[in-house]
Amino acid sequence: MQEYDLIVVGSGPAGRRGAIQAAKLGRSVLVIEQGKRVGGVSVHTGTIPSKTLRETALNLSGWRERGFYGRAYRVKQEISADDLRRRLLITLDHEVEVLEHQFARNRVQHIRGKASFVTPDTLEIHKDDGETLHVTGKSIMLAVGTKPYRPENIPFDGVSVLDSDELLDIRDLPRSIAVIGAGVIGIEYATIFSALDLQVTVIDPKPAILDFIDREIVEDFIYQLRDRSMKLILGQLAESVEKLDNGKCCITLDNGRRVVSDMVLYAAGRVGATDSLNLPAAGLTADSRGRLNVDPETFQTDVPHIYAAGDVVGFPSLASTSMEQGRIAARVAIGAIAKEPPKYFPYGIYAVPEISTCGLTEEEVKERGIPYECGIARFRETSRGHIMGLDAGLLKMIFSLKTRRLLGVHIVGEGATELVHIGQAVLNLKGTVEYFVENTFNYPTLAEAYKIAGLDAWNRMGDPFQMG
Ligand SMILES: Cc1cc2nc3c(=O)[nH]c(=O)nc-3n(C[C@H](O)[C@H](O)[C@H](O)COP(=O)(O)OP(=O)(O)OC[C@H]3O[C@@H](n4cnc5c(N)ncnc54)[C@H](O)[C@@H]3O)c2cc1C
Repeated sequence: MQEYDLIVVGSGPAGRRGAIQAAKLGRSVLVIEQGKRVGGVSVHTGTIPSKTLRETALNLSGWRERGFYGRAYRVKQEISADDLRRRLLITLDHEVEVLEHQFARNRVQHIRGKASFVTPDTLEIHKDDGETLHVTGKSIMLAVGTKPYRPENIPFDGVSVLDSDELLDIRDLPRSIAVIGAGVIGIEYATIFSALDLQVTVIDPKPAILDFIDREIVEDFIYQLRDRSMKLILGQLAESVEKLDNGKCCITLDNGRRVVSDMVLYAAGRVGATDSLNLPAAGLTADSRGRLNVDPETFQTDVPHIYAAGDVVGFPSLASTSMEQGRIAARVAIGAIAKEPPKYFPYGIYAVPEISTCGLTEEEVKERGIPYECGIARFRETSRGHIMGLDAGLLKMIFSLKTRRLLGVHIVGEGATELVHIGQAVLNLKGTVEYFVENTFNYPTLAEAYKIAGLDAWNRMGDPFQMG
């Protein structure tokens, strides 16, 4: 039986980063992946497909030019599901190729098959051709990710009632879609479809959406969605979904209200993909949502030589954070020093418009009783915003009145997920409002909004050199 220093189950962001890190430090590494190609949910059904779909939808619809040419402007009049898929396939092929090359260059072995535990250090691999292999690892990293939550009472058919994995294979674009679940995935897809001029209804039992984001940003975001006729039905539970004789779908809400649409996307949560791992053979158990408990610093499970990283350990369930978790877990596993990452990492919500945020929200600052001041800039105040025809977009920064340090940066609008990194750097390097006031920014750029927001806060905070 072949023995490895590290066996990684799953080739998503956590698994791939962990595997390459251990291989770079000279360890023998095997990655086991059950999917047809390496890359995980991130490459095949999650991050990359949804972001490619978004980019294609914005390009073909001419969305970014509508500020100048009006809401009726289109680059392509009839946009089909094939148009959206074409770019997706090219992007995915490229991603897989890069990843396979990284594995080959770093001598990471990978086997296609489904892994399950036989003992705490032996895994059985079931290959598609029926062959079964056994391998042992000095350390094992579980980076198996998640799969969509599919409750029994939802009549999924892969055609008109779908989960977010199936959505990528639709043959025709519907005229109307109802999205159940206003989490990040539901909101991203809902707003992408709305940019394609589909009638979109979002339903969620919670009264507020995106409750971890600064409220002022969410209010601005919701205003923009309603302004383009998206319907948000919040605080009401979708009790059942039924397919009607005319081919449409009917969702009945807990107050008896009915929502009829051509298609339903069920995006109300994901569960850890641990059911096929035979965890009891390793001495492990998952929680009710299939997730594994780990030490947040080392990513060790209750069985010390078994690590878990990425979405299977729960919050924050991002490709970006999964990569870091995988790298840290691999370093700990092989006995290398692993420094804890900075406390604040960015969230990117690739809706239309984008939202991105790093650090404390205004609500959190208030809760902690920190005296603070906010600075706000609207993209339409920047020359770059005029050139781009932007009439929306908002950047907000929160500063401590005591230390003058940046506590949080929150952005909604074009380029938010890129722009946030300026604020993230200042935040993690413990910079103050003076950074934004004293530094020169390229002109004309959207990044200039930092300068405007910095000055806005500084004007109210007072000049430290004039203060007694
Ligand atoms: C629609 C959508 C959009 C998203 N957008 C973003 C975004 O914009 N930005 C962002 O940062 N994150 C985004 N995410 C989240 C991101 O995709 C995940 O955080 C990330 O993929 C998690 O990585 P992971 O390494 O934990 O595992 P995954 O990427 O989930 O990969 C796990 C792999 O393990 C394999 N596996 C499972 N069980 C076994 C087994 N028993 N044997 C062998 N192989 C197995 C699976 O086949 C899979 O390939 C999005 C997710 C979705 C669904």
